[in-house]
Amino acid sequence: MSATSLVAETVWKSVESTRSVTQHQLSILHFLYGKNFERATKIVDQRGVKRISADPSGRYIFQVVGESRTKEDYYCFAENYCACYSFFYDIVNRREQLCCKHQLAARLAASLEACVEVKVTDEQLAQLLSKL
Ligand SMILES: [Zn+2]
Repeated sequence: MSATSLVAETVWKSVESTRSVTQHQLSILHFLYGKNFERATKIVDQRGVKRISADPSGRYIFQVVGESRTKEDYYCFAENYCACYSFFYDIVNRREQLCCKHQLAARLAASLEACVEVKVTDEQLAQLLSKL
């Protein structure tokens, strides 16, 4: 893990444990993620993050709204996957970003308990995942 990722993890852990973001943490997150962090906070403010949890396994995936009107929602796992173009282009191929704005929005919403909660069965979740 890179030093940058370690710093990011430390900040996220403390946001997750306090369920709030201090001014200091905000400036670190902003420094680490730049414009993507601003976009992510906008998405969270619009209640644009759904957490789809399956019963009884408790597994979940996030559904995050796309920013432009023509774009569909993106399914993502906060820590290691997003279905968007930027995830593959900027992160997997070029390694320029730590994560995309959808993953950031998902993580932020989950940390602050600002997700719209959606419950499905394990079968429904499996079906959803098979289409990704
Ligand atoms: Zn994404």
